[in-house]
Amino acid sequence: MHQERVGWANGVVFDTGGPRLIFDPTPGRLLRGDWQVFVTHAHSDHTYGLGTSGKKYSTQETLRIYESLREKTVKNAQTVRIGDKLQFDQTQVTVLNAGHMLGSCQFEVATPNFTAVYTGDINCVDTLTTQAAERRPCDYLVVEATYGHPSYLFPRRSTMYADIVRWSMTELKEGRIPTFQVYSSGKPQELVRLFNLYTKIPVVCSPTISRANRVHNENGVKLDYYDSSTPEGKRMMKKGRWVYISTSKVDHTPKNASPAVTTGWAVRQTFRRYTSFPLSSHADFDQLIQFVKAVNPKKVYIFTGYTDILASEIERKLGIRAAPLPVIAQTKLLDFNEAVT
Ligand SMILES: [Zn+2]
Repeated sequence: MHQERVGWANGVVFDTGGPRLIFDPTPGRLLRGDWQVFVTHAHSDHTYGLGTSGKKYSTQETLRIYESLREKTVKNAQTVRIGDKLQFDQTQVTVLNAGHMLGSCQFEVATPNFTAVYTGDINCVDTLTTQAAERRPCDYLVVEATYGHPSYLFPRRSTMYADIVRWSMTELKEGRIPTFQVYSSGKPQELVRLFNLYTKIPVVCSPTISRANRVHNENGVKLDYYDSSTPEGKRMMKKGRWVYISTSKVDHTPKNASPAVTTGWAVRQTFRRYTSFPLSSHADFDQLIQFVKAVNPKKVYIFTGYTDILASEIERKLGIRAAPLPVIAQTKLLDFNEAVT
């Protein structure tokens, strides 16, 4: 018998009273027994489960981005859509939008005894490529705290978009190539869309980012860009007016590059020779507080980042119980899942 009904055991687990469900598992000791694996989105710190041999669930978009970046096919995967409900004995798992990147989702777990939501990474405002995270009332909320510190407050997205476009125009006018160094999926596609919608500046993307771009185009997010490894891309890069978007493993970086990063950390940090913009795919502190308020759970469990600080701020501002996500010992894990209270 356990007090907690939610915990961390190399992944997020719930006391379902039966079905063994694990969310965004990370490398670690192998779990005994049959586990159903759920993956919230395609960023590599969340996708370890897609490389494991058991049955796994993710959205079609997440699976396709994962497969195209790694150039391999995942076996034993079932794709789900936002709004889908999956039944495991008496436990139902519902797929909710997370607003973090194309295909990102939260999972609601409803057992006869309680409902819980695991957010994965969330963003609570609309962007050019995603819609704000859904807010689903539940008993237990497991939420991220990447920017769960009161000092992390992001400017309005439209202001950041305008700043990025204005800076790029200035750099081009002075003969430099705006060069954004980002992860391969999520942010780069938002940047491509920004330049497509509000400028006539051609966008060149590195081959890795181009692979993720193609999945976006297949899934209704229209992106116009040149792949730097193609003849058209190479021709474009000989001209003087274009922007470059690349992963941090820089390839084909132009000689006259003006490097920039887009990250929430830019609120408090500078990045030496890089120009930085606080454009993030995560919720900032206020978004997290408003999200928890709307979900109104009995208790909040917090993982990643400022767990202690966000927990005490939630208790102080909202009067809702909150704590870092407790670690469940592997030896207790099967009991944990089979516990019926
Ligand atoms: Zn992420």
